Amino acid sequence: MEKIVKVNGMTFVPFIEEAEIRKQVSRVASEIRRDYEGKTPLFLCVLNGAFVFAADLLRETGMNESEISFVRYKSYEGTGSTGNVKQLIGLPDDIEGKDVIIIEDIVDTGLTAEKMVADLREKNPASVGFVTLLHKPVSSKTGFKPDYVAFEIDPRFIIGYGLDLDGKVRNLRDIYVIKED
Ligand code: 5GP
Repeated sequence: MEKIVKVNGMTFVPFIEEAEIRKQVSRVASEIRRDYEGKTPLFLCVLNGAFVFAADLLRETGMNESEISFVRYKSYEGTGSTGNVKQLIGLPDDIEGKDVIIIEDIVDTGLTAEKMVADLREKNPASVGFVTLLHKPVSSKTGFKPDYVAFEIDPRFIIGYGLDLDGKVRNLRDIYVIKED
């Protein structure tokens, strides 16, 4: 029987299975390992949604010398972007001269990504990379292009593997998409 998830009166159906997520996370991790050979990047995980992806990605890279830190931005309420990007936990101070790689769960309009990269550049890093689990290129309002993408998807609302609906369902191992009828 098909797995269905109901939350806040909405129904979600399976979209990307755990095994496929693992495969693509591993691919992206090896691309990063190849591109940053000889460097020790500082990963910057964007809370809350990217924490599951970041944990798997970091372990998959096998880059023992790399570090991780956390930032928090918010632009979504319920299932839509508010267009207003707020910083809730700021950037760490020790960014100057470092190769920073932002880890995001999903790039939708690109507004959050653009704001983060701009905030980060003010701290004079050596370089800024951007990896995202999911990218909805059709929703872009900015033309922002992540350097590494695990999955490109259509602009539909998804949950699971760290992504929430009003704070819930981040625990799901698979990714689910909202059922439209
Ligand atoms: P943007 O600023 O690119 O429009 O939005 C980025 C943020 O919006 C993501 O970090 C994520 O928190 C949220 N977001 C965008 N699309 C989705 C989605 O389909 N599902 C969930 N759960 N969050 C989303």
